[in-house]
Amino acid sequence: MVAIKYISPIDGHVHLRWTEHPEPFALWAFMDAKAVGLRAIVEQVNTRPALTSLDIIKARRDYINMIKKAAGAEDIDYKAYIGMTDDEEQVKEALKAAMEHPEFIAGDKTFYVHSTERMGLLRPSIQLRNWEIRGAILYNKASTSHLEDEKKFDQDNKFNPEDPITHSLHQTELAELVQAQRQVRFARDSDYRGIFVAHHVSSPETIDFLNEEKKKMPFPIIIETTPHHMYLNTDDYRIHGNRVKMNPPLRSPESQHGVLERVVNGKTDVIGSDDTAHGLDKKDSDNPPSGIKVIPIYPYMMGNLIELGMRPNHLRKITFDTPNEIFFGGKLDPRIVEVEYNPDLWTKYGYGHGKNPFSRIDGTLSV
Ligand SMILES: [Zn+2]
Repeated sequence: MVAIKYISPIDGHVHLRWTEHPEPFALWAFMDAKAVGLRAIVEQVNTRPALTSLDIIKARRDYINMIKKAAGAEDIDYKAYIGMTDDEEQVKEALKAAMEHPEFIAGDKTFYVHSTERMGLLRPSIQLRNWEIRGAILYNKASTSHLEDEKKFDQDNKFNPEDPITHSLHQTELAELVQAQRQVRFARDSDYRGIFVAHHVSSPETIDFLNEEKKKMPFPIIIETTPHHMYLNTDDYRIHGNRVKMNPPLRSPESQHGVLERVVNGKTDVIGSDDTAHGLDKKDSDNPPSGIKVIPIYPYMMGNLIELGMRPNHLRKITFDTPNEIFFGGKLDPRIVEVEYNPDLWTKYGYGHGKNPFSRIDGTLSV
């Protein structure tokens, strides 16, 4: 492998884990972040306890400061999102906290479907009410979303752990598109003036829809894609089984190529890893949780996107400038790092050589 130089990326989508796992996942995530040269991390809310109040986030920040020190990663900046629930008072308090404490809260986060820790807000009336609260208080921060609608899941294809591709057949691309359409409409109807962030967009159709809406809406729309939706597809179940199960799920090779092509051609705004650790014993069980490790792939991805023809300035924009602007108020200084892709970073999570989730594309796959 050759070392490549890039502007230290900001990852606006990381699940660091807290008390719910015996493994030191947050520590390992910061060690990996340091190894691949990340500049900053924004943590997702579905920890145990969940990050839904200012007090919990303050306690979390103190804990993370300790972890960063232990990982030798004190120069990596950290913020958290604050999670939205169906409780009106909680929502008001959380949005107020996000506006009053931009130094450690990057914005709010809503799950529109249940995922790990079941924080889904499924009722459209509650979803709309939360947008109306944002509109009423002139909320001007990032509102980030997990966009899937479980009503559009294919009930004829239920997930069967023996046949991992059923996860992708069940949680359809249409489910993502429909929820994106609904939430953009709700935000518009609520006079929303913040920044609408669509996390982990996995379908080319959703990317195209959101790009059209950008031209019409009075608020910015940010399209985030993940390395796994850019590089992996339903063929990878044959290699890795449920170890590549995540939400939204992997798509067909055709859709995956469509996502990657749009990223390379400048049709998306940020890359977030959606990095999520689970013990491999759980991933290999008959009730496999969703989410995969992603952070170690950064150096491969940064080099590969340039090889595919992305302009270096655009790569810098979607991995540093834009996330810096929307999550860190433009306050982070750019740093240049020089990093070599290191497949050994996967080892501590239990992956044997050539068995990491990206092994089909990183050249390590052993068959
Ligand atoms: Zn996520």
